[in-house]
Amino acid sequence: HEAQKTPTRLRFYESSISKETTERLLLENDLHDALANQELFLEYQPQLDLRTGQIKSVEALVRWQHPKKGWISPGVFIPIAEESGLIIPIGQWILETACQQVKRWEAAGLPPIKVAVNLSLGQLFQQNSVEIIQNVLEKTQLKPKYLQLEITESMTINIDHMTTILHKLKALGVTIAVDDFGTGYSSLSYLKDFPIDCLKIDRSFVQKIQSNSTDKALVDMILSMAKHLQLKVVAEGIEEIEQLSYLVASQCDTIQGFLLSKPVSPRTFQENYVTLHNDAKYILDSISASK
Ligand code: C2E
Ligand code: MG
Ligand code: MG
Ligand code: MG
Repeated sequence: HEAQKTPTRLRFYESSISKETTERLLLENDLHDALANQELFLEYQPQLDLRTGQIKSVEALVRWQHPKKGWISPGVFIPIAEESGLIIPIGQWILETACQQVKRWEAAGLPPIKVAVNLSLGQLFQQNSVEIIQNVLEKTQLKPKYLQLEITESMTINIDHMTTILHKLKALGVTIAVDDFGTGYSSLSYLKDFPIDCLKIDRSFVQKIQSNSTDKALVDMILSMAKHLQLKVVAEGIEEIEQLSYLVASQCDTIQGFLLSKPVSPRTFQENYVTLHNDAKYILDSISASK
């Protein structure tokens, strides 16, 4: 009888794990139907080109409106999609929808907009990944230079394979950005092999740029390294005017963050396009006036 008794602490541990697992399985099950039920949609976050004051690009971010549970963060469901393999159909849909959207904005009379799309490792390492992306470009008739693919440092697992794929993608004419740069615990040597166009400085470094000298040093280091390697830089998660001010002074190329705009629907982006530029001009002018 003694042997069958589970210590209280262990029982608690087991039950909390299984609750988490059950929740995850339920979500995975629902995610199977999310595409067909049209519960997934994309929002777009504008990026401001600091040299011209123009919004020349956006990042596509996927959202899931669950019929019962409401809004579920991509931070929650993307890992589930990745582990279950659902990222393959979902990722394909994201890519196609984002490329189509750029064509729609163009048809609506907006100046050319480049869209950045986040890719998961499983998407890039699937058979024919390059052909699939090429097909999306052909199907949507989007010029490849208007598509930027975002990868992360976690994709340095297999440098040789990744290098081959990225070179093929570059040959299509798309550009490649490293997302969340500096957070991946990987060596920097992949920068020698991967044909990269752009580094995205992670929000965590930018946030305390004014108060933390280490974060400031890291941002300076990334900007200087990017300059030497002739890479563009997008700084993510800009919420404060002081952060923007510092990045303007440091000649960062592009910023993205709530200060300019949250991720918005395609319609809102289109309708607010002019207003967004006025806001951007106002902010940039106030920075140069305060010098
Ligand atoms: P990410 O690619 O680094 O995207 C930037 C995240 O930062 C987005 O969160 C965005 O809403 C948020 N953000 C932007 N500006 C600010 C700011 O000023 N302050 C703060 N606090 N946050 C800001 P989101 O949309 O929740 O996405 C989280 C992550 O989920 C993304 O990080 C990306 O890794 C993943 N993800 C989102 N959409 C996709 C997708 O279509 N495919 C894949 N594979 N992953 C995606
Ligand atoms: Mg991203
Ligand atoms: Mg990021
Ligand atoms: Mg991320």
